[in-house]
Amino acid sequence: MRRKIIAGNWKMNLTLSEANAIASGLKEKLPSKTDAEVMVFPSFIHLPSVSSILGETNIVVGSQNAYPAALTAMTGEIAPAQLREIGITTSLVGHSERRQFLGETNEICNEKIKFLLGQGFRVVYCIGETLAERESGNTFSVLSTQIKQGLKGIESALFSKLIVAYEPVWAIGTGKVATPEQAEEAHAFIRNEIAGLFVGGKEVSESLQILYGGSVKPDNIASLLSKPNIDGGLVGGASQKLDSFLALIK
Ligand code: PEP
Repeated sequence: MRRKIIAGNWKMNLTLSEANAIASGLKEKLPSKTDAEVMVFPSFIHLPSVSSILGETNIVVGSQNAYPAALTAMTGEIAPAQLREIGITTSLVGHSERRQFLGETNEICNEKIKFLLGQGFRVVYCIGETLAERESGNTFSVLSTQIKQGLKGIESALFSKLIVAYEPVWAIGTGKVATPEQAEEAHAFIRNEIAGLFVGGKEVSESLQILYGGSVKPDNIASLLSKPNIDGGLVGGASQKLDSFLALIK
């Protein structure tokens, strides 16, 4: 049985006091045990403060990115070892905004995923097609390449620390959510693809949590989660307001 995950990607949004206020609200209003695992991904500079607020809860605080190396000369980047020092051991990799605007390729994602998993981190690997790719009938070949290249060389044993987020780029921040059927079709494809690629792939893929992301809101989450291969949501906008984030989790 795969546990559901509701993850909030706060992106480069929210001031420190806004991030702290959402964290405090979550701490105060969420029961100490929730059926779903809850995660938040604040800006790097908000991580110490948000994780200290959420320190005694079960809410996971993760980073939106990490550089795949030990402490070294790499100006402007953040090492997994520095994250670990402040208690962060979960990271997003390959969010479409980083792919689209910051040149993050499947190969770079692969380096990050390998390094982070090797350091004992949990990784949420984001994949998804653009509108042009969907309209030209290439959704599945894009997803397949993102899986093959991004997860190349990863041992099956490390898959228990991996989460995949299917985020169609055309649905992110646009208000255009994929239908539950479109999302389910992509999730089933991803699970099947992973089953065929790795040693012990069938078992690995059966236990892999695959999240949907792209304009998830309190009024559409239930129909998405009703699908058998959708194990939760990676949520941008609706996680950045306390009320809607709480509604999603509930
Ligand atoms: C995201 O940033 O991963 C995302 C899915 O954003 P939104 O929910 O705002 O579409």
